[in-house]
This record gives sequence, C-alpha cells and structure tokens, in this order.
Amino acid sequence: MGGSVARVVARDRRPDPAPPGSARRYVNQWTEDEALDGARVRAFVLILRTRGCYWADVKGCSMCGYARDTLGRSATAAEIAAQVESALRDYRGEPYVKIYTSGSFLDDREVDPGSRVAIAQAFHGRARRLLFETLPEFVRDDTLLPLREAFGGEVEVAQGLESTQPEVLNRLINKGSTPAEYLAAGDRIRALGLRAKAYLLLKPPYLTEAEAVEDVVRSVEVAAGHFDAFSINPVHIQGGTVVEWLYQRGRYRPPWLWSLVSAMERSASLRGAARLVTFPTAGGLPRGPHNCGSCDARVLAALESASLDQRFDGLAALDCTCRADWRALGELEPIGVEA
Ligand code: SF4
Ligand SMILES: [Zn+2]
Repeated sequence: MGGSVARVVARDRRPDPAPPGSARRYVNQWTEDEALDGARVRAFVLILRTRGCYWADVKGCSMCGYARDTLGRSATAAEIAAQVESALRDYRGEPYVKIYTSGSFLDDREVDPGSRVAIAQAFHGRARRLLFETLPEFVRDDTLLPLREAFGGEVEVAQGLESTQPEVLNRLINKGSTPAEYLAAGDRIRALGLRAKAYLLLKPPYLTEAEAVEDVVRSVEVAAGHFDAFSINPVHIQGGTVVEWLYQRGRYRPPWLWSLVSAMERSASLRGAARLVTFPTAGGLPRGPHNCGSCDARVLAALESASLDQRFDGLAALDCTCRADWRALGELEPIGVEA
C-alpha cells in the first residue's frame, strides 16, 4: 500500500504530551451485554490510559486511531493503580471483565508486570472471565502464567488477527506480524488452558465489498482450531488513520451491514467449536458499517441477537430494498462500476 501515506498519517496521529493529571484518569469505562456459558450477562469494560501500542509508533495499522487515547510515555505503576482504583468504584460484580489499553496489555512498556498481576487480583473471586488484548509477540508463559494464577477464573486473550491472508494483513492493514505468528500465539494461549479470541477485520482498505467478505470467511476457515472465539469487526473510520485519509477523498466506504450479515452467515458453518460474534462500533452511522439508513437498526439488532445467542438462522430472513443494491455492487464493483 501507499507507504508514504502511512508515514504521514502516523506522524499526525502521534499524541501531544498528556496534560498533567491525565495519567491517573482512565480513558473510558462502561458496561455492555455479553454472553458467558450460554447465558446473557453484563460485562464491565475499562480502557486504561497507557503508553499505547508500540506498533502505532513504528508504522501503525491502516484503520487504527487508538494512539490518540494514549499518554505518549509509559504510565507508572502508581498511575495505573489510580486508574484502576477509580474504575473499581463503578464495578458491580459483573462476571465478565474486559481490560483494554489501546495496545497490548502484555507489553511491559504499557502495563508493567506487577500492575498486570494487581489488576488480575482485583477481580479474583469477583469475575468469572477476564479478557485483555495483545499482539502475538507478548504471548509467553512468563506473561500469562502469573495472570492465570492471580485471577483464578477464565482468562481470555484476544488478538487482532484481522486476516489470515499475508498480503492483506501486511500490505493492506500494515500489521507487523504474520498470520502464522497469530495462529501460533493462539495455540500457546490454549496450551496454557486459557481462552484464545481473534478479531477479524471486515473490509480493510483497497478491497471490494465482495473481496472483504471472502477475506473474513477464508480467515475463519483457516484460523478455526486455533481460537475459541472469533469477533468480526467491520471497519469504522477512526481519526488520523489511512482509512480516514481515503474516506475523506471518496476512496473508501465503510462496509455495508449486508456484507457483515453475509460474512456471519457463511462463517457460522466454518468456525468449528468457536464462538462467532460481532458487535460493530458506529453501526448505522456514516463513519461506521451501514446500509440505506432505514433498515440499519433492524439489521444491527439481529446481528447482536445472533452474537449473544449463537443462533444465525434468523439472519437469512432479513431484507430491505437496499439488499438488491448491495448485491448489484457485488457484481459491478470488481469491474469498476459503482452501483
Ligand atoms: S490495530 Fe493494534 S497493532 Fe495495529 S496500531 Fe492499533 S493497537 Fe497497534
Ligand atoms: Zn436498507
């Protein structure tokens, strides 16, 4: 892809020095619907303010604007403790806890090993499942075993695999690791008795709608057996990214929700024993995955139900006049004609 565009955008994206005191304030916290052991539950979600993803400084992924929520330096253990302490005031015993860092929870530069263990201990005996995200290079026995010990419940390690096609992952998305490295990390996670989750990206830049669906479906097929759960994440336009640069020049449209429906329906039979979910960000909005506007809420609700209940048969009944437009696009886009 355009390396110079990536470099310019990465430079713009670098955060300004954090204002005083912000290192003791987390980025965001909320609760959301989830499913655990076949039942719907509430999940407690916390985004910590850390140094952020090192890869965002090196090159950055084409759709990722998370660097804007970071400190630009490592947070101290005391600063992380202050963030966690204030978030815990709003914790009401939700059984599923998700800790995000806008990067890798297992990277010592973002969250030091002592703070990681302290966070896991804070939820010991209170939550049943603890999820965090990481790049594959930090998936090791020495990073994971202390957390398994400290938490005591189910630890779920999520990776942004995005695509199992090397060309797509490295050239269109700009990830620094190969698909094989993500799959091997999934195997290491499971070998320790932990749950491995993979995010797959729907519609990286430079793919047509039809190619994007194929990319996700093929990725589920290839990665099944290495992960316990797949989450399909349709692109939404984040500030300061290559995708935004293309979007502002009319060269990128976020995926249609029909593409997401198709990817979910087709992946359902290829995922093996893994869970398959999608909880789109900015669904129905111009900068997120959307259809015609009149059917978006209905389609999003059906996707959420399918994800929570793992029942995908209801998706086939969805329809709207815009589904024909989307189908026509699938036929015309490859030959350069817009529907
Ligand atoms: S998508 Fe992940 S690896 Fe890529 S820049 Fe963002 S946080 Fe880093
Ligand atoms: Zn519609």
